[in-house]
Amino acid sequence: MSNALSPAQRLTQLINIINEYNYQYYVQDNPSVPDAEYDRLMHELLDIEKAHPDLRSPDSPSQKVGGAALSAFEQVEHEVPMLSLDNAFDEDDMIAFEKRIKDRLKITSEISFSCEPKLDGLAVSILYENGKLVRAATRGDGRVGENITTNVRTIANVPLRLRGEDFPQRLEVRGEVIMTRAGFETLNVAQIKKGKKPFVNPRNAAAGSLRQLDPKITAARPLLFYSYSLGLVENVQQPLAITHSGRLKQLSDWGLPLSKELEVAQGAKECLTYFHKIGALRSGLSYDIDGVVFKVDEIAMQQELGFVARAPRWAIAHKFPAQEEMSTLLDVEFQV
Ligand code: NAD
Repeated sequence: MSNALSPAQRLTQLINIINEYNYQYYVQDNPSVPDAEYDRLMHELLDIEKAHPDLRSPDSPSQKVGGAALSAFEQVEHEVPMLSLDNAFDEDDMIAFEKRIKDRLKITSEISFSCEPKLDGLAVSILYENGKLVRAATRGDGRVGENITTNVRTIANVPLRLRGEDFPQRLEVRGEVIMTRAGFETLNVAQIKKGKKPFVNPRNAAAGSLRQLDPKITAARPLLFYSYSLGLVENVQQPLAITHSGRLKQLSDWGLPLSKELEVAQGAKECLTYFHKIGALRSGLSYDIDGVVFKVDEIAMQQELGFVARAPRWAIAHKFPAQEEMSTLLDVEFQV
């Protein structure tokens, strides 16, 4: 049907559909289509914008991060924006990613990458001042998120105080809040028993649990947090490591949880080996992942590479082939 439309008309149509899906997913925590379908539409939008750059507008979903903050929560302005990630869908995309970096940095030597599982949950920023947790926020649209401090304080593995004494005076830790698969199954059985709608998948359950106005409800949900980067850092007492992986290790020393599957790889080839290794482990993990993330490990290189509109140039998410998520809902309904 789309063949009958001009590129401009199809683009407008795609923007309207994607904006609606974004609202359902990010604001209502209630997606109506599987991620695979969403990704297909986004891909089509990106292809049109690539072929017709004059049609790309600054408010296109391709230029924006996430969704607006819910007004029920106090708003938090991120001093350092919380961005999204570019995607690689196949090996060629990964090789092109590494080439772009080498060309931009004008280097030929192998690049070190921090390799991390792409946890399928909700991005959260946690601010520590003098080692005490003082504020937590959702990513929101990347610039403004929701203040969810009381809810994040209830998550079992989030330290309310950092360990040791050499942490920066102000330290913003970023990471993903997830729900384990086992926790999700148990929660949905309980939801159904209570006559409530089951959650579509663990990501949606984690997001819904975190954005509760009553922290007692959040406290009863099986949530976990895993750190994956630093945001704002002020008044360091000990120099920060010069690599991303070194900084993650510092976070771990200060008591913050890291996922176990972290590695450092040299060049795109080793990254691809990591991608296949994690892909093979995926079904046995206790939580959902939808891919892996590769980040240039040297912070100086990251700084030189900088950002584009919605994502850093120094990182990429290599997605696993899409799983039809909406089927989870059907599986659960058949258990009743
Ligand atoms: P994204 O989820 O593809 O990637 C960015 C996010 O990855 C970060 O914000 C962070 O939360 C997460 N992440 C996990 N592990 C990480 C790590 N180790 N390091 C850094 N970040 C890590 O981007 P997005 O913009 O949040 O969402 C886009 C995706 O969301 C789409 O590809 C689609 O799959 C899904 N989506 C689905 C619908 C729908 O209706 N089904 C709607 C909107 C978005």
